[in-house]
Amino acid sequence: MNVKFTKRMKKVLILGIVCGTVLGTVITFAAARRAVDKKKTVMAETEKKWQAENKRLQSQIQTESEVGKSVEAAASLSEKQPDDWALVLVNDCHPLDTKYVPELTEITSENSVDARIAEDTKKMLSDAKGAGLNVHILSAYRSYDDQTAVFNDTMQDWVNQGESYLDAYNETKKSVAVPGYSEHALGLALDITSEDYQGLDEKQADTPETKWLMKNCYKYGFILRYPSEKMETTGITYEPWHYRYVGKDAAKEITEKGITLEEYLGVK
Ligand SMILES: [Zn+2]
Repeated sequence: MNVKFTKRMKKVLILGIVCGTVLGTVITFAAARRAVDKKKTVMAETEKKWQAENKRLQSQIQTESEVGKSVEAAASLSEKQPDDWALVLVNDCHPLDTKYVPELTEITSENSVDARIAEDTKKMLSDAKGAGLNVHILSAYRSYDDQTAVFNDTMQDWVNQGESYLDAYNETKKSVAVPGYSEHALGLALDITSEDYQGLDEKQADTPETKWLMKNCYKYGFILRYPSEKMETTGITYEPWHYRYVGKDAAKEITEKGITLEEYLGVK
């Protein structure tokens, strides 16, 4: 009996050891696996966070480079005198960054210009009034969105008259700058007409207000930007109402020589 008991005890002991070892191994494996899983979860979360942060940083970098580009675009457009903000060229070949917004000053309740030309503009308008003339500002600074609205309205007029979209686009381009290519977005251009005749056509040139402006605007730093017979260099038809600020010295030289801003800067 003792021998049997001992044998049985041995079996129980061996079984116990085996079971214990197996259980221990299983527990150890389970714990290790749990630790690995936990580590994996933490890693995945970290990776997600990193990816989000990376995305945020990349978009920040993009925004910063865009801002940098817009300043650069506005500054580099004048190739002759790159430091002179008043000589920035905007035409068919020289678009302006759509995000460019100058510091603005109101000159009437509805119109603003680049703050740096406000004084000269006001002086020109008050001198015109002093000469007994009724000038009317039709448009001054126009944002990219405003320009888009003007362009679309004009194009729609042509479409309504039966033109195809392509023809309507080309016709519109002759009298309205394509958004992104308008000087009005600089805040350095104004459309001025007679109060009594506000038509935007060649007859505007016959009004006493426009005659006075054409003759005197250079004294205040302005030029008639789109003269007749100059469409080849400006890309825009005759606009006897569109005045552009270029500074007094440049305005005098451009007017005296009867040239355009493109010709003055020596670029197309
Ligand atoms: Zn204009």
